[in-house]
Amino acid sequence: MSPLRVQYLELKAQAKDAILLFRLGDFYEFFDQDAIDASQILGITLTSRDKTIPMAGIPHNHAQAQIQKLLFAGRKVAICEQMELPQKGALVRREIVRILTPGIQIDHEHDQAYLGAIIQEGEHHALAFLETSTGELLIDHGLSLERLCERIRQYAIKHVLTLGFTLKLPNILNETLPINYITKNRAQELLCEHYDIGVLDALFPRPGCIIASAAAVLMVLRTQRLDRLTHLHRPSLLKSSATIDLREETIEHLDLPHLFKLINKTETALGARRLKYWLYHPFRQSAKIHEQQEAVKDCVAVTCTGIMDLERLAGKLAAKLTTPRDTYALGQSLLQIEALKLTGSSAAIQRLSQTICDAYQQLRDVGAWIRMHQKADAPTTHRDGGIFQGSAHPDLSELLRAQDTQALLQLEEQEIKNTGIPTLKVRSNRIYGYYIEITKSQLKNIPTHYERKQTLSNGERFTTPELKALERILLTAEARQRELEYVLFEELLMKIAINPLMQLADALSELDALSALSRMLERNWVFPTIDTSTDLIIDQGRHPLVEQSQQSFTPNSIQCASTTFLITGPNMGGKSTFMRQIGLIVLLGHIGSPVPARSAHFGAVSSFHTRIGAQDALERGQSTFMVEMTELARILHEADEHSLIIIDEIGRGTSTYDGLSVAWASLEWLVSHIRARTLFATHYHELTSLPGIINVHMHALDIDGKLKFSYKLEPGPALQSFGIQVADLAGLPKPVINRAWQILGRLDKKPRKCILSTDTQLSLF
Ligand code: ADP
Repeated sequence: MSPLRVQYLELKAQAKDAILLFRLGDFYEFFDQDAIDASQILGITLTSRDKTIPMAGIPHNHAQAQIQKLLFAGRKVAICEQMELPQKGALVRREIVRILTPGIQIDHEHDQAYLGAIIQEGEHHALAFLETSTGELLIDHGLSLERLCERIRQYAIKHVLTLGFTLKLPNILNETLPINYITKNRAQELLCEHYDIGVLDALFPRPGCIIASAAAVLMVLRTQRLDRLTHLHRPSLLKSSATIDLREETIEHLDLPHLFKLINKTETALGARRLKYWLYHPFRQSAKIHEQQEAVKDCVAVTCTGIMDLERLAGKLAAKLTTPRDTYALGQSLLQIEALKLTGSSAAIQRLSQTICDAYQQLRDVGAWIRMHQKADAPTTHRDGGIFQGSAHPDLSELLRAQDTQALLQLEEQEIKNTGIPTLKVRSNRIYGYYIEITKSQLKNIPTHYERKQTLSNGERFTTPELKALERILLTAEARQRELEYVLFEELLMKIAINPLMQLADALSELDALSALSRMLERNWVFPTIDTSTDLIIDQGRHPLVEQSQQSFTPNSIQCASTTFLITGPNMGGKSTFMRQIGLIVLLGHIGSPVPARSAHFGAVSSFHTRIGAQDALERGQSTFMVEMTELARILHEADEHSLIIIDEIGRGTSTYDGLSVAWASLEWLVSHIRARTLFATHYHELTSLPGIINVHMHALDIDGKLKFSYKLEPGPALQSFGIQVADLAGLPKPVINRAWQILGRLDKKPRKCILSTDTQLSLF
């Protein structure tokens, strides 16, 4: 076995289940099974070394995107670098410098990636989610297995550490660690050190949260070869009474990813993350919502353009991954921050401007230094120089002067004059250094003291003692410049204080998200009045997304207090749109945003419950009807009189009478026990006679057999369901439609025997 192979196998043993990116010159190479896997995942060519060892490779300077692909495929990646310059004949020392996983990503620019750590506490679980690049730490406890899995899905956790037990979830990397991976004492020590405090009780509600958090932190320290995560945030408790937990299905039913796209007028990545967080975790208390609305009003003229992702920068500083391009952007960002004009009397704006002002003071000097001394076209690495202007250091300006190309030009001029060769050129490249290039036709004219260096197809390259001397001066100057800039850059990084950077990031994310919400006023949206009542009054409400895609949109109004609305009307009549529109307006109101309506007034809701459409959850191994019933069960168990409930069709996945009975009994329960603001759409006309509900319908007209929708909500139940007309609209063959009319005529003559009537409903309870 060659020494290189031995070295590879040693490192591979350290990398364990991670794919090893083995640095070999300008490439990262994969070997053995890793090569087979990488070639499949990345679509790169599989070759072999010595005809026996499978091998594949990627150029190191394009590795970032390929690493992302491997992580996206759910793999761990170990990055091995050359730790010294190659020397002839000697084996280069190599080390694994970091291990990345789908949940531990430091240098990524896009989605959040959390590392989860979970420990059992009696019947329940405590968890910690750590976002490595931003240092965000989320904790929760007292979770059943079901709630735990939901949390994991909600936060798109891709890598979970379980201490002392195993969790099998699809598409998630589960790493089972021994229960003593970190002891309680060591966990406390580690976190106390990180937060620089003596006791953790105020930050962590349960010992399980401490251990889970410390386990996640320890895993990051080990994989990133760090002693400390300087940018670790204080933990946020997920189960917070300040925000409403939206269920995964509600996010899907209300199409929140699209709503987010619509309202995301933020100008920074920081703000976008904050706005998304608000949308997915709306505020609960009407007082807080009111405060937020006032802040949004104060942000109409605020703009955060040109401010970089300071949170990620803090992460990069902590992980020692900061590049000159980052520091340059920091200098520019601080300039933008200095120019921010915050006015307004709202509590939030007062607080934010104070924080920004204080934190900015601590970074002002370093920002000014960067702007004064760093070059605008900053490189992505700090090893090769080219970062600073000569003004950064007296020695640097001297070294730059020494490399002035003027000397080369002079030499060229002089050689042209001496040799009489007008096409003579003095140039350099990385491999051959400095040379004099002469074309073939002029070779006969070269002086005798020219030494041949290299032969080309159309000429030759030479050197002279004079050029050699100049080359020595230039090269030493260049090497010293590189070294000096490296040191200067390291010194610069030491001067950037992480704490104020994180405070700025936090405040600016809020400011940017607030100002994005203020942009909604330009769309003719209005601030709703939100109080503690159970009212729901929306005048001329619109669906924010459908409104965009429709040439003309019919607004609708609603007025109720703890009422159940039963909505009937034909398919395609606009029932779902109307119900979602109410959900979205109330939700937007809860993040302090203006809403698409002429006016709106409602009591803050305690929870959103939705059951819409026939969502398949086959991957969870449940039938459509089962999913429908599970969702319904949750609503009936969890909703209270302050909830907003939206139910679009229930009981369709089983026989008519079964379905009708379930819908009937559920509706009665909603009316008599829960008394929440409820919108319930159905095709079961039998339900319209239930006492205690308000009947409304989506208006439609049959004009000469052609169905016309007005999308107008009208009082009373729909008289007809227009099923056959809709089938006609959908393009069923004419003979089938005609036959359907015939059959309907015959069925209508036979009075349909209804096993349920309103007279018997009381006896059900
Ligand atoms: P239903 O739930 O009654 O089957 P939908 O709510 O899905 O009907 O609406 C069907 C289509 O009608 C929507 O996709 C949209 O294009 C259009 N629509 C719905 N409501 C309105 C409205 N208020 N104004 C204009 N078009 C609407």
